Amino acid sequence: MSNAPRVARRDLLRWGAAAAILPSGAVAVAADPPATTSSAPPANPPRFERFKVGAIEGIVLSDGTGQVSPIQPTFGADAKVDDLNVALDRAFHPRDRASLAFNPVLLRIGTDLVLVDAGNAAPAGAPGSGPVGHLVANLRAAGVKPEDITALIITHGHGDHIGGLGTKAAPTYPNAKIFISKPEYDFWTSGAPDFSRSLLPPDTRNGMAAAAKKQLEDFTPRIERFDVGATLFPGLEIIDTNGHTPGHISLVVEDGGQSLCVLGDVAHNHVIMFANPDWKVAFDTDPTAGATARKKIFDRLASDRTLVLGYHLPWPAFGHVRRVTAGNGAASSGYEWVIAPLV
Ligand SMILES: [Zn+2]
Repeated sequence: MSNAPRVARRDLLRWGAAAAILPSGAVAVAADPPATTSSAPPANPPRFERFKVGAIEGIVLSDGTGQVSPIQPTFGADAKVDDLNVALDRAFHPRDRASLAFNPVLLRIGTDLVLVDAGNAAPAGAPGSGPVGHLVANLRAAGVKPEDITALIITHGHGDHIGGLGTKAAPTYPNAKIFISKPEYDFWTSGAPDFSRSLLPPDTRNGMAAAAKKQLEDFTPRIERFDVGATLFPGLEIIDTNGHTPGHISLVVEDGGQSLCVLGDVAHNHVIMFANPDWKVAFDTDPTAGATARKKIFDRLASDRTLVLGYHLPWPAFGHVRRVTAGNGAASSGYEWVIAPLV
């Protein structure tokens, strides 16, 4: 990728200027001033935050926020209502709805600009008008052009992670190589993905599968399929968190003694999946495997005290995973999402 496009010097300076490192060695996140190009108030204010992991510069960018209502059966599909309500009430969370944010991440590693997940497709005909599809506008607001992106790492093939790739005729990121794990690519392009463990209605999962197959096949000439243990970029660990989908990955970015886990879809909500990681998620292709992956990575992240960035967690989605034992208001042993405030 030596001939990869590079960001302008002005942008490099902007990237560096807002970043900071805490004395504890944790990654600090700097708030951005509002940036507008017109005197009229924007329909959707720019929403991005810069951060650093050692020398690796990053930006988390909002693609928007949706809502899941009612909560069951999508989240906590097999939870007893009373148990779910105890967890929700304890966290001052509404019982009838859950927010669902979409937070792709951009990393500058060496000369590469690596975008982790492409977000949702923007609503046709009226960009900026809907709850999602704001990634490109926020990239531009952060001083990065879509054509500057040299690589995309796709955590998995759901529409809220690949819809924003665009189309074969009009790719959103025309210069980016697209990395997706082999099991993930194979699952969606097989023509007969195994949904025998899925809790989703057949129409929903079949529609999802058809869209993913078409989009991945459209982009196949630019896709590099990787083994889950592979090293794609220095300082980037690929973690197998299959279950949500067969080739779902999470990432740990490491540099200069600091680390950040880019969680992907291991947790869609900051209360439910943490309070009881065994509760099933209807979006998981294999909900039991999804729970196993969740418990395994939560255990590691809690032990290592790793800073985490959650794709679907409330903006700006930085936090930590803390172990909780039953009692003191917690119905059962599990975990808690502890936000890492902006500093
Ligand atoms: Zn997702």
